[in-house]
Amino acid sequence: MTSSALIGLSRHRIGVDGTGVTTLVAFHSCPLNCKYCLNPQALSPEGVWKRFSPEELFRAVDKDDLYFRATGGGVTFGGGEPLVSYKDILQFYNLCKKNGKKWKINIETSLNVSKIFVEAVENAVDHWIVDIKDMNPVIYRAYTGKNNELVKTNLQYLIKNNAKVTVRVPLIPRFNNEQDVEKSVLSLQEMGIRDIERFTYIIKEH
Ligand code: SF4
Repeated sequence: MTSSALIGLSRHRIGVDGTGVTTLVAFHSCPLNCKYCLNPQALSPEGVWKRFSPEELFRAVDKDDLYFRATGGGVTFGGGEPLVSYKDILQFYNLCKKNGKKWKINIETSLNVSKIFVEAVENAVDHWIVDIKDMNPVIYRAYTGKNNELVKTNLQYLIKNNAKVTVRVPLIPRFNNEQDVEKSVLSLQEMGIRDIERFTYIIKEH
């Protein structure tokens, strides 16, 4: 039987990742290696907190059904990179349909995955929340260790299909500056994205 490897599950979140009350389901594993990763347990083989069968995960989220229905909330898949676990997301979505649940499904993602993963969950996801890092490939690579071609391709695909997309553009101390952020915002606006949030990564100095 398949199981979801999680680094955490956080209930009763309000206004941080999607409308209404949400439960954050944070998956293990991520293809990136961000210099200031906030969830390093997602990258470590020892970082798995718990494994859930599809039914167990559904029941854990279902505990807050009343809150979701009262507030128009639901579940937010994050991580790590949740799209690596796209099959688990699909199983969850199918269980929602089978049980008549109309919870919102949000996803917090870097979009740096094969387009096949995005296509697979497209119909299941109500709101895509994308942490873009920086649109400049040189900055992106310096910060994450990867190139951002897939990010751009996947973003274009979602826009073309009229998906609900919020893009978060961070100021990353020592990797980009206000002008870089501005350039990323302009380039995203040119792609047709209207919902853009700027913020600053808070870095813990060691
Ligand atoms: S995308 Fe998120 S989980 Fe992955 S390395 Fe970057 S900060 Fe960490």
